[in-house]
Amino acid sequence: MSMRHLHSSSVLAPIAGLVILGTAMAPIAVAQQQKSAAGTVAPPPNDPRLPNVVVLATGGTIAGAAGSDVQSGYTSGQVGVEQLLNAVPQARKLANLRGEQISNIGSQDMNDEVWIKLATRVNELLAMPDVTGVVITHGTDTIEETAYFLNLVVKSDKPVVMTASMRPSTALSADGPLNYYNAVAIAADPNAKGRGVLVVVNDWIHGAASLTKTSTTAVQTFMSPLSGLIGTVAYGTPEWYRGPVGKHGLTSDFSVDKATVLPRVDIIMATENMDGALINAAAGAGAKGIVIAGVGNGNMTDIALKALSAQAQKGVVGVRSSRVTTGQVGRNVEVNDDKMGTVASLGLNPQKSRVLLRLALLKTSDPKTIQRYFDEY
Ligand code: ASP
Repeated sequence: MSMRHLHSSSVLAPIAGLVILGTAMAPIAVAQQQKSAAGTVAPPPNDPRLPNVVVLATGGTIAGAAGSDVQSGYTSGQVGVEQLLNAVPQARKLANLRGEQISNIGSQDMNDEVWIKLATRVNELLAMPDVTGVVITHGTDTIEETAYFLNLVVKSDKPVVMTASMRPSTALSADGPLNYYNAVAIAADPNAKGRGVLVVVNDWIHGAASLTKTSTTAVQTFMSPLSGLIGTVAYGTPEWYRGPVGKHGLTSDFSVDKATVLPRVDIIMATENMDGALINAAAGAGAKGIVIAGVGNGNMTDIALKALSAQAQKGVVGVRSSRVTTGQVGRNVEVNDDKMGTVASLGLNPQKSRVLLRLALLKTSDPKTIQRYFDEY
């Protein structure tokens, strides 16, 4: 199906001229779009000179709305993809855009069903010769997990750019419009190819393996503490610094399809006085892998480590990560992983270790092979 055909489909059917994504954008949006006789706003026709970018919306605060522009309470996933596209008409000068609604949820509710649907759709779209790239709007809470998951299962080197916002669309100084504009600019940039899944928020371009959310509320929440930024972007103009960390995309060994059932992996945080009860409970609940958000360099009490090792003997893969925001978890440092049968997460935080372990367990439960995956990805 050609982009021209898709563009004229019902997905971009004209909507009423109400613009929600940022209150400051509303007058601009309405002024720059052509009103039909019926008073509705129609998207401009495709420009054959522009790249074709598909926007997949999943929800999050970028699609959130509050009752007033100064209150802190709001609901994620209220604004549909068409309103999102129409709220930033400037982005239509960067690319021919059309949208699809994958889900409309707060990303705290992200789940395997949406992940598989999203990954399948991204792969389908990127296989179309006339699709240049994809933008995915998402909540900030779990964007790092979804980005890393897609980084491992998208079979294309075309740009996949995720974006989000910390403030809802109705807030004073909403950050969604510029984040979305920058994400479209990056998806339309040929230099974004081959860099894996990118996350563009607050003028920074992060790699999927490196970014993490560091503030519960600040607009400048995302950091790439170990390896740094892939680049920056100022009002759509990128500055590229480097490629991504780890294997991804076309070089990845992992894939999913509509029938994939991802194995259960639980994360347990290590603390003072930790015992093995939660480790054993996770295995009892059907976990095929357990990630410990360890203290320091992936450490835990001796009793917890023994419980993890005992589960490893029974085939439940134990990964040692860290609850500390930055730094590597080294193999065979304070813990003898060779003896305990455990895996060191190296540069991956607990939530990304869980993503890699779930995909790895589709192929093997051998700790040595899984350690190799942690080395490579
Ligand atoms: N709870 C929201 C979400 O992750 C937060 C956000 O998007 O900033 O969907």
